[in-house]
Amino acid sequence: MVLAGLGRQLNSALNSFSKAAVVDEKALDALLKDISKALLESDINVKLVGGLRNKVKSRSLKEIKEASASANHQKSKQIVQKAIFDELVALVDPQEEPYKPTKGKTNIIMAVGLQGAGKTTSCTKLAVHYQRKGFKVGLVCADTFRAGAFDQLKQNATKAKIPFYGSYTETDPVAISEAGVQQFKKSKFDVIIVDTSGRHKQEEELFEEMRMISQAVKPHMTVLVMDGAMGQAAESQASAFKESSDFGSIIVTKMDGHAKGGGAISAVAATKTPIIFIGTGENLHDIDTFRPRPFVQQLLGMGDMQGLLEHVQDVAMSDPDKQKQLAKKFEQGNLSIRDWAEQIKNVTKLGPISKIAGMIPGLNADMIGQGGDDEASKRIKRMLFITDSMTEKELESDGTTFLRKGKDGKYVGLSRRALRVARGSGTSLREIEELLVQYTMMKSGILNMMKGQAGGGMKPGQP
Ligand code: GDP
Repeated sequence: MVLAGLGRQLNSALNSFSKAAVVDEKALDALLKDISKALLESDINVKLVGGLRNKVKSRSLKEIKEASASANHQKSKQIVQKAIFDELVALVDPQEEPYKPTKGKTNIIMAVGLQGAGKTTSCTKLAVHYQRKGFKVGLVCADTFRAGAFDQLKQNATKAKIPFYGSYTETDPVAISEAGVQQFKKSKFDVIIVDTSGRHKQEEELFEEMRMISQAVKPHMTVLVMDGAMGQAAESQASAFKESSDFGSIIVTKMDGHAKGGGAISAVAATKTPIIFIGTGENLHDIDTFRPRPFVQQLLGMGDMQGLLEHVQDVAMSDPDKQKQLAKKFEQGNLSIRDWAEQIKNVTKLGPISKIAGMIPGLNADMIGQGGDDEASKRIKRMLFITDSMTEKELESDGTTFLRKGKDGKYVGLSRRALRVARGSGTSLREIEELLVQYTMMKSGILNMMKGQAGGGMKPGQP
């Protein structure tokens, strides 16, 4: 999962805070200390961390004092958790709208960034992304400095069936970019992506070259490609690029694995530029749209329903009827246990569970962290075994059939049906409970998303 280490630390800080008996200034300070430590260890700039700490404290202290006076500790906790959530979102959201390509017109995108950042790979990933959305996309290789750059782009583009332009003989990157863009323009391409060089003998020459290419092709959007593993240096690097190429968006790569990511996050604040995508692997499909709120929700184990839906819809693309049915069910909030199981099956087809799990509410970094991919896959497989032991009626239900009501009409535990299903599937009542929690979380996540307030409850890992 993206930034699993940071997610784990934030979760653990919030979890111990949510268990505190009394919420007072001392408890708030202790929580903020843990949160700050986690952020600093992830390479987030010390000033930004200090700012977050002060804002959360000044926002919540008065309110928690009032709530605590009436011993309403639950309310105090919610106030603090909401303040932390909002400030984490603010950290990755510069409140700037990035450029969005429109069909039927030429959209020129120029990629800049240091060599090795993942520029060529990201250009092809971007091309694949837009092509899947129905754009006619072409790639131009303007990196004449690095031998083999054109071959690399050609190879990637051929693999992804994307038209490309480049030259083995022309050494002027400005001439190549101009010619490539002209050619694709003439053939009415919607999106033209220009990959530039990431290294020169001297940095100033690199920046000068970028300026000249930019003047020649007049990009609608310049995107800075940054390595997510880059530490504190990311900020000054981004500022230097901003001066010479005035990029309007950022792609952070290599956010799979153990990237700390904080350097790139600090670069967002320093340049007030939004991240548009994150790279999550070497594969051409390993690219995720970046949205600040779902990103923080995912980090805090609250899932990312919108991201999940995009992935699921990609899988469902091959069956438009099914996709329509699904959209209707989502709209009405009518998800049955069977629908839930189907979605989980679809999601597991998308790749290693550690990449997807963060999007599913409840399957947070903790779960992946403890047992790794294998353990998480096993748990999910066992949940699917459970659904195999359900009757048709149970599968079509909303799960309440597995709950037992007390005299006052409130649910007090699991029903005999649940016991039967647990026995039939060789699982335990605990696992049935876990399945019902997962199902409820997905359902309420979808409902919240439909109501435009994705995220819902604030307690990490809770419905
Ligand atoms: P460029 O010099 O900036 O064009 O960088 P490349 O596109 O050649 O990428 C450098 C290396 O990083 C290559 O080995 C890529 O496969 C790898 N890479 C790029 N993006 C990602 C990513 O999101 N995740 C991982 N794990 N590797 C990546």
